[in-house]
Amino acid sequence: MMTANRRWPCAALLLLVACGGAGAQDLGTLNPKPLPPLANPDNPSTPARELFARKSEPAAMAPRTIGFYSHGCLAGGVALPVNGPAWQVMRLSRNRNWGHPELIALLETLATQARAEVGWPGLLVGDISQPRGGPMPNGHASHQVGLDADIWLTPMPDRELTRKEREEMKATVVVAADRRDVDPAVWTPAHVGVIRLAAELPAVERIFVNAAIKKALCRDAGGDHAWQSKVRPYWGHDYHFHIRIRCPGDSPDCSPQPPVPPGDGCGNELDWWFRDAVLRPPPPKPANAPAKPRALTMAALPAACRLVLQAPSNVSAERQE
Ligand SMILES: [Zn+2]
Repeated sequence: MMTANRRWPCAALLLLVACGGAGAQDLGTLNPKPLPPLANPDNPSTPARELFARKSEPAAMAPRTIGFYSHGCLAGGVALPVNGPAWQVMRLSRNRNWGHPELIALLETLATQARAEVGWPGLLVGDISQPRGGPMPNGHASHQVGLDADIWLTPMPDRELTRKEREEMKATVVVAADRRDVDPAVWTPAHVGVIRLAAELPAVERIFVNAAIKKALCRDAGGDHAWQSKVRPYWGHDYHFHIRIRCPGDSPDCSPQPPVPPGDGCGNELDWWFRDAVLRPPPPKPANAPAKPRALTMAALPAACRLVLQAPSNVSAERQE
């Protein structure tokens, strides 16, 4: 599903930053099947993603983020309700609407503020994290600690979406076919408004968008704004934007990332993204294709993630319908 020319740059940078959801729009299913049990779950070489993907409920522990965005897990996760006054959760079959309570509260606030203040009718929320965070079998390198959320760039329709729509509806790609700018037929001032509002929230540290969207924000909102520095260009992210918040105060084991570089990011540094070699890199030849990063094992994650994995389930935190 993901095209080669987007997958490889992403794979090469997996360990550096978020690389999620990129070009592919994965559809969900109305009949999600539980994953089959693992033959040897205690084998040290078992990828951690296989273990975390089999936990359908959060750990009954106090909320705590453990580790780094692309290298950790989440205790005491809470779910964003699938319907709210100004949001709806998409792809319910993925069961990835779990996060640290601070992120969940922030999304709820952003949703209502965006409706009231910038005319964005509501958030369609894509992946946040698995119930206990951790690596995922598909889709993201980050989103492991309950502090990352993908928000579709499609305005929420003025009605409750059906289950089928939530699994199968495609988000609007706002980047033009040549990847050099946004598509004026779908890009609106409200897109600028909702991204700006998110970036202005003090807890938000970074927002990842396609470079064409960054370019449009620089042009449409004007540079030289403090919030612009938080909006970072990245591969993919042409149908959603990715919100990342800082380490919560209750999480001493959360590893912060370096602050964003100074400046609004609207200058020459943006040019690199629009070179042909970056926009359309040749498909890698098998001989020199970058090696796939090895799947993280439990030994590679913070030790506290074992406790998160082994903890009893908080069944009362089951997803609210
Ligand atoms: Zn993301």
